[in-house]
Amino acid sequence: MTDTTTNPAAPVPGAADTGAATGQTSGRPDTWASADRGQLIERAEVIVTSPNRNFVTLKITTADGVTGLGDATLNGRELGVAAYLSEHVVPLLIGRDASRIEDAWQFLYRSSYWRRGPVTMAAIASVDMALWDIKAKVAGMPLYQLLGGASRTGLMAYGHASGKELPELFDSIREHQEEGYRSIRVQTGVPGLESIYGIASNKTTEGNEGVRYDFEPAQRGAFPAMEDWDTRAYLRHVPTVFEAVRNEFGPELPLLHDGHHRMTPLQAAKLGKSLEPYDLFWLEDCTPAENQEALKLVRQHTTTPLAIGEVFNTIWDFKDIIRDQLIDYVRGAVTHMGGISPLRKTMDYAAMYQVKSGFHGPTDISPVGLAAQMHLGMAIHNFGIQEYMQHGPQTNQVFQQTFTFTDGYLHPGDEPGLGVSLDVDEAGKYPYEQAYLPFNRLADGTVHDW
Ligand SMILES: [Mg+2]
Repeated sequence: MTDTTTNPAAPVPGAADTGAATGQTSGRPDTWASADRGQLIERAEVIVTSPNRNFVTLKITTADGVTGLGDATLNGRELGVAAYLSEHVVPLLIGRDASRIEDAWQFLYRSSYWRRGPVTMAAIASVDMALWDIKAKVAGMPLYQLLGGASRTGLMAYGHASGKELPELFDSIREHQEEGYRSIRVQTGVPGLESIYGIASNKTTEGNEGVRYDFEPAQRGAFPAMEDWDTRAYLRHVPTVFEAVRNEFGPELPLLHDGHHRMTPLQAAKLGKSLEPYDLFWLEDCTPAENQEALKLVRQHTTTPLAIGEVFNTIWDFKDIIRDQLIDYVRGAVTHMGGISPLRKTMDYAAMYQVKSGFHGPTDISPVGLAAQMHLGMAIHNFGIQEYMQHGPQTNQVFQQTFTFTDGYLHPGDEPGLGVSLDVDEAGKYPYEQAYLPFNRLADGTVHDW
């Protein structure tokens, strides 16, 4: 565990106010007089821990002793965000007013000058989340109440079913249904390919044998694992899988599929069209997200709903594809999109175009980030579905959580704040372990999108 604590330089609100007003900022915190000195940020700690996987968490403590947590986990690049926070953000937080969430966000975003990018936005996200956690605790409310109150009784969640072959896939779907899932993402092996994205690498979690599949693509080690890929084989195979799943499980079960950014626009259009008879809830990440124009071509050829954006960092990445009605679901995550505040703005903008949420939520979103998404999902009108992969037992010991998962629906609970606490002693038992997401090569050796 890396514990970076910066002690407060005895913030004096009146003096800080004078400094800000006269433009004299050197050596002074950028804040102004608070009505409540107890809300000034006294400590900010960056906690890196690796129970079942690596997590980076920011913990902010006010002078009154109220604590807030924020998720800054960037899968495979965790220490980059930890350093960004420790070296460049934590020193700027000490003495700031914790109640000024929007101001803190705008200050961190604009004062860095070099905007956007996953490292910067994950760092800002953790500050935003921690400050919302604090504000809700001070108010004595679960965060969703502060965001406008509940728009629904629970959040429909989908789980990840997978199998190399159909019998294994069917078993996985049934196991998820037994756990309560009512919506299922379906990924399978492709004949001729050794290993492929989305297939459970470990049949069960250690100490939890036979209970569930556990898929974590980031593998511990000094170098990314290499996988193979053949788009034509994939395009031939996937429709046969969905035909078999529909025949086995019937027409009602909502089914999702993730293309993981591997297709050209024409290939994605072909896949979307070929999956139309099987009525998917969505086809996710059908083309590389950098080229947003690609979605126009896909859209012209298929009515299969499209979801994209788990690698996006800001509302600007979503602006055009929402306005042009090129997607149906926003796959952003609070952790990668700069926090609750900007994702809320994105969803309010998306609501004007009938675009709904489908927030990214595998295990690389920590329990803190997942809770933040649940509170946001409870409050917004245009909630769609929440991805929910269960964290491992060690992770659940490090992060104590109040959320519930009942009959396919998540609820964040009604404790004040986010409803997550971090056991620092437990976190300290699991030091960081290097881990990388895999990469792909085609049969001729060419690197391909993973
Ligand atoms: Mg995805």
